[in-house]
Amino acid sequence: MSDKQPPAGVKERFPLARLSTVRTGGAAEHFARASDDATVQELLSWAYGADIEVSVVGSGSNLLIADDGVRGLVVKLDGSLAAIELEGERIRCGAGARLPAVAARAARAGLTGLEFGVNIPGTVGGAVKMNANAYEGELARVLEWVEICSADGLERRTPHELGFAYRRSNVAPGEVVIRACFSLTPSDPEAVATNIAGMRARRREAQPQGIRTFGSTFKNPDEPRARGRSAGLLLAESGCNGLQVGGARFSEKHANFIENTGSATTADVVALMAEGRRRVRERFGVELEPEVQTLGEVRFPWQ
Ligand SMILES: Cc1cc2nc3c(=O)[nH]c(=O)nc-3n(C[C@H](O)[C@H](O)[C@H](O)COP(=O)(O)OP(=O)(O)OC[C@H]3O[C@@H](n4cnc5c(N)ncnc54)[C@H](O)[C@@H]3O)c2cc1C
Repeated sequence: MSDKQPPAGVKERFPLARLSTVRTGGAAEHFARASDDATVQELLSWAYGADIEVSVVGSGSNLLIADDGVRGLVVKLDGSLAAIELEGERIRCGAGARLPAVAARAARAGLTGLEFGVNIPGTVGGAVKMNANAYEGELARVLEWVEICSADGLERRTPHELGFAYRRSNVAPGEVVIRACFSLTPSDPEAVATNIAGMRARRREAQPQGIRTFGSTFKNPDEPRARGRSAGLLLAESGCNGLQVGGARFSEKHANFIENTGSATTADVVALMAEGRRRVRERFGVELEPEVQTLGEVRFPWQ
């Protein structure tokens, strides 16, 4: 612990479970909301000077938080860092803005390219960090630049400079994406709305709705033994649909989705993941790797 006083607004032992969509996990040692650049900079300088680790939580829609909580400082963006501004064919937004809201704003303006975002319940910052994509939509195709804040200051990166790969970018621990600019293409607003409605319908058909989950648990494997099967199909064919450990259950509808049935802990989720992974390895010889990100000391038994 540091003897330096934290900046105003930093809270201690702040519960994080409700900031994640699966609703598990403990508290942050330090937690702060940041609504402008200066606050982010001040928080990062304090953390750097005090040798405290910094993490960011977006919508928590791809996050597994340790039951024992998270050491260091956890930051959440809001206020002007969650605002959405339309500038002709561009949308500039704070990285705390929710991607579905940005996609809806683009659609209302008759701009195409971000429709895929309506089905991704994360923030723009989380989408950049995770290189979030859906259906034929691709973040890198519409992203013009992002601004990233670290203890070293502010930096702008283009998609080419973000090291995008499947569900990966080069946004490093301690770096906070604070702003992004999308460059979109004018289209017929009705066509954009129809496209969005089609994507929503496909989602409703394929995935469970209204459950506490972090979306895809494992990445789709890229190895010959999977024979083109998705992680969900491999889990389903290994008998995982409905499989439960404690309060965590693989969805009946989509086996790559884990559901918190009400009382799940992160330990339950990890144990269920280990069992699903074991079954897939035994049946197909495929080693599934987590897509879900961790915050705090979450240990996967196979790593
Ligand atoms: C029902 C459901 C459906 C989903 N469908 C899809 C889908 O179709 N495609 C897809 O790609 N994903 C999907 N996801 C997963 C998830 O929504 C995405 O990965 C999303 O981009 C995560 O954003 P987030 O703000 O929730 O990030 P979080 O879950 O809060 O965080 C994820 C990671 O990003 C980091 N992070 C968050 N914000 C920032 C920031 N500002 N700066 C730096 N790092 C940051 C966190 O530290 C963490 O490492 C789905 C999830 C759910 C629950």
